[in-house]
Amino acid sequence: MIYDVLIIGGGASGLFLGANLKGKRVLILEKNEKLGKKILISGGGKCNITNEFVNKLNYNGDEILFDLLKSSEILDFFGAKNFIKIKNFQYFCKNGSNFVLKTLIDKNKFTKINLNSEVIDVKKDKNLFCIFTKNEKFLAKNLVVASGGLSYPSLGVSDIAYKIALKFGLNLSVLKPALVGFTVQKDEFWFKNLSGVSTFVEILVDDRKIRGDMLFTHKGLSGPAILNASLFWDKGKMMLNFLPNFDFKTIKSSKKQISTNLPLPKRFIKEFLEICDIRDKVFCDLNSDELCRLSRIFNYEFAPAGTFGYTKAEITKGGVSLRCLDENLQSKDHLGLFFIGEALNFNGMLGGYNLHFAFSSAIRVAKFLNFSI
Ligand SMILES: Cc1cc2nc3c(=O)[nH]c(=O)nc-3n(C[C@H](O)[C@H](O)[C@H](O)COP(=O)(O)OP(=O)(O)OC[C@H]3O[C@@H](n4cnc5c(N)ncnc54)[C@H](O)[C@@H]3O)c2cc1C
Repeated sequence: MIYDVLIIGGGASGLFLGANLKGKRVLILEKNEKLGKKILISGGGKCNITNEFVNKLNYNGDEILFDLLKSSEILDFFGAKNFIKIKNFQYFCKNGSNFVLKTLIDKNKFTKINLNSEVIDVKKDKNLFCIFTKNEKFLAKNLVVASGGLSYPSLGVSDIAYKIALKFGLNLSVLKPALVGFTVQKDEFWFKNLSGVSTFVEILVDDRKIRGDMLFTHKGLSGPAILNASLFWDKGKMMLNFLPNFDFKTIKSSKKQISTNLPLPKRFIKEFLEICDIRDKVFCDLNSDELCRLSRIFNYEFAPAGTFGYTKAEITKGGVSLRCLDENLQSKDHLGLFFIGEALNFNGMLGGYNLHFAFSSAIRVAKFLNFSI
């Protein structure tokens, strides 16, 4: 049998593609014994599938040559009534991630799906792709690589997308764990004493300003603002503003202690004053040198040691270069070879943007293949 479309990976993008291909012979090869393991754990089991406001600025990576879906299009596919908008305009599934996965599986009723089928190699023979698992060989006119990234290895990930890209001469950008916490260097070991403390910060990283909650942990830094910062950090320094909504001018003549004046957790102020070598005293008694040291609270520069790594990262940043693909995500040099989802060098912040891109990239390929074959 020669398939019209063979999809490697039964995750978010692969299943969405399968569900949107009409009247084609489609086969999904999935390495795991179950489909969509990452969908199930997404959004803490509530699957944050999209966001009211989707903009290319919510992403890092190459330029994409097509419009992302509107959030309403994704909600319509899954049934808008099943989702609730919370936090920063994020849509979560009222009935949990299971519902999202079940909808995707139900809508793949004409797709043949082989579980426990890990693709280990791909070759192109004239106009056909030969796809190899350990025990079998499959033939297809079109091959769509939807095998995701490297994060959460416990869920059975693989690097097949990158191997196929390299084998067919496509470029890869550097791969790194992202949406992940930072480990710290010696100078910032005082962060560890604050394990469990959370505070609102503004982070300046790679010319981006990111606002949100930051959490001190026994390993370093975490929390939504830090996870987002990790998407834009490569190496080197970034800057933390621990008091983004505050101006010393409002308290310059205050007769209260510093720790009473500053709207920050007491444990944090204690540690911060210690590293600045300032005694907790009445604010208006600070001399200019002390005031200068204290003002580091607005622009604390530091270089993370690294990240918590792929085991904790929600996504892999980097991937198959979009410059080697056309606007339908098809290889410019190898017609019939497509890449979608997280395997691409286009990665989103927290907030539903990664599933949103998995679906948007899948629909792009579905529309093209429905029209062209
Ligand atoms: C803890 C966690 C929480 C997250 N929460 C959210 C969230 O709330 N919102 C959001 O937008 N994003 C979230 N994400 C990110 C999101 O889950 C992924 O970006 C998205 O699933 C990527 O879709 P994909 O189809 O590219 O890859 P995946 O969904 O990872 O699917 C890839 C599939 O390919 C299979 N595969 C891999 N290699 C092979 C092979 N060699 N042969 C056959 N099959 C193979 C895998 O088993 C997998 O089923 C979260 C991620 C994690 C880890």
